[in-house]
Amino acid sequence: MLVVMRHGATPEEVSAVIQAVEGQNMRPHLYRGEERIVIGVVGKVPAGAVAAGAGAPLPMQGKLNPELLRHMSGVDRLVPISRPYKLASREFIPEKSRFRLGRIQVGGNGVLIIAGPCSVESRSQILEVAQAVCEAGAHALRGGAYKPRTSPYSFQGMGEEGLELLAEAGEKYGLPIVTEVMAPELIPLVARYADVLQIGARNMQNFNLLNAAGASQQPVLLKRGPSATIEDLLMSAEYILSQGNRRVMLCERGIRTFENATRNTTDINAIPVLQALTHLPVLLDPSHSTGEAGFVEAIARAGIAAGADGLIIEVHPDPRTALSDGQQSLTPEQFARLIHSIRAVAQAVNRAI
Ligand code: PEP
Ligand code: MN
Repeated sequence: MLVVMRHGATPEEVSAVIQAVEGQNMRPHLYRGEERIVIGVVGKVPAGAVAAGAGAPLPMQGKLNPELLRHMSGVDRLVPISRPYKLASREFIPEKSRFRLGRIQVGGNGVLIIAGPCSVESRSQILEVAQAVCEAGAHALRGGAYKPRTSPYSFQGMGEEGLELLAEAGEKYGLPIVTEVMAPELIPLVARYADVLQIGARNMQNFNLLNAAGASQQPVLLKRGPSATIEDLLMSAEYILSQGNRRVMLCERGIRTFENATRNTTDINAIPVLQALTHLPVLLDPSHSTGEAGFVEAIARAGIAAGADGLIIEVHPDPRTALSDGQQSLTPEQFARLIHSIRAVAQAVNRAI
């Protein structure tokens, strides 16, 4: 439910509505629109109970009685939100959500470029990639320290040492860090080093992780699960938003289809569809969506043409020796060429890189 306040509603009227919502054991989410204040009213999601672990008693969900709000001073009208993903929907926030990440405004006119290796492997590797992607024009550095691997025998990441190396490289080249967190209990540690918490495709419906990432109030990059629908993705984003964390980016990274010529199938439709349904910035990962370095540039171009707000791309100094995802990783030279080539597409659709 949306409580739309009147033009010029006073701060006292707004806080009275907020208190009335809380009094019904519901959670108010305030949005200051260009014209007026809107209060999104949704159920309370008990993040505390998640942290306490299974078996903790869950507080009863409130049930909204709209009549208690409808006639309050300063309230213009109540509007139901038809989508199941309430806070993620354009019905709640019609304008695009924006937030600052380093030198770029995510969700603005500039296209966010996140680049770096699949995994952090060594100090020299991450420093070399950081320098290369920085010089080529990337805005943020990616690299996994905790890796979700299909096989338990594959390289699982360097853990905290990898986080330290990422932070060192990010600091040296002025690049914010994007790195994956795989478990709720690792969030405090990862958040100490990272600017953006990546929630990977395999964890898209790890609801404890989503709640905890939301409660951390750190920016989150949420990747679409390989078999998740667009609505599933938005419902997962809703978990993060329900904790009052608005700095969420969505990422299309390819889905599983019958096609096996590529690692995944880039659902290019997802970009304009998400842009229509949600105010959250929408990114594309052409590295995982194709699985093949030779196709990354073409699909990156397609993503920008389709309206993506950013790209996340794997780059490795020597892809042949990469400990993970070498086949889809670009060399620094290929990455620099890609930036040059996507810039032209960005210009054609009135975006900047
Ligand atoms: C990654 O970014 O390296 C990764 C594991 O991505 P995904 O979760 O999309 O597979
Ligand atoms: Mn990878």
